[in-house]
Amino acid sequence: MSQPILQVEHLKKYFPAGGRKVLRAVDDVSFSVQEGEILGIVGESGCGKTTCGRTAIGLYSKTDGVSLYRGEDVHRMRGAKRRAFCCQVQTVFQDPYASLDPKNKVIDLIAEGMDIHHLYTGPAERREKVMEQVGLNPSGIDRYPYEFSGGMRQRIGIARALAVEPRLLLCDEPISALDVSIQAQIVNLLLDLREQKSLTYLLISHDLSMVRHLSDRILVMYLGEVVEESTAQELYTHPLHPYTKALIAAIPIPDPKVERARPRSVLQGQVPSPVDPPPGCRFAGRCPYATDRCRTEKPELCDMGGGHRVACHLCR
Ligand code: SF4
Repeated sequence: MSQPILQVEHLKKYFPAGGRKVLRAVDDVSFSVQEGEILGIVGESGCGKTTCGRTAIGLYSKTDGVSLYRGEDVHRMRGAKRRAFCCQVQTVFQDPYASLDPKNKVIDLIAEGMDIHHLYTGPAERREKVMEQVGLNPSGIDRYPYEFSGGMRQRIGIARALAVEPRLLLCDEPISALDVSIQAQIVNLLLDLREQKSLTYLLISHDLSMVRHLSDRILVMYLGEVVEESTAQELYTHPLHPYTKALIAAIPIPDPKVERARPRSVLQGQVPSPVDPPPGCRFAGRCPYATDRCRTEKPELCDMGGGHRVACHLCR
């Protein structure tokens, strides 16, 4: 197999939590992303998926571990390598309302990265390059973000990321702030762009049905750790970890009759604090199969074959 575009090894990101305490947002996470692949990272709110993605691409400093972009340490790049990396790795943020400066016209928002990296020869080429970007008509680029709908604002956010011709996009909850009616348009746009521009995505979301639709492989995170990793197809047809099973069981079925009739499977119990996580399996307090061993011995992430990895004593 060729060198991954992104290789993350034992990555940790802790935040100070008062006194000597630390919040273990990302705790010893390893994964890789191949060129052209879409890797989804899923989990409930607060599981560490956004911090993991942002630390992996260097938006946050790391506490420990390493993240390599095409073999180069993301957190140690300097000079020309750093500038090239900043073009090649871009982010599409969750909230198109908050991520676009309302004082700037669309043309200036989209061209900001090109301005910084001097990617045009003059104003005409700058304008032409902005107009090449997704779904915007020529008159639209001289308007302000508030004049557009949520879906169009997210298109502007995507165009802004694409303007510097990246290879890897971190898509952080790219549709969760949008109306349901336009979510599918953005999902299809991301899929089309991946084909047209041979992009690689690191896709972060709590929306399992969207992640299933888009991803080649999926990581499931719980309380800062990876609990399961597999191809999207395998994960949804043969989930192994009790947490993954509960998440999949909670996906709504788009048929009101079937949805009403099926038994509810709701996760019980509270998510423990990432400041003071339990010593054994971090899911033990909510797991219906937990044993004494689970409460004292941490399950390792084991390869079950075909790249399907799971961290659960039940599966060994
Ligand atoms: Fe449940 Fe034990 Fe597996 Fe953790 S290790 S998920 S508590 S069965």
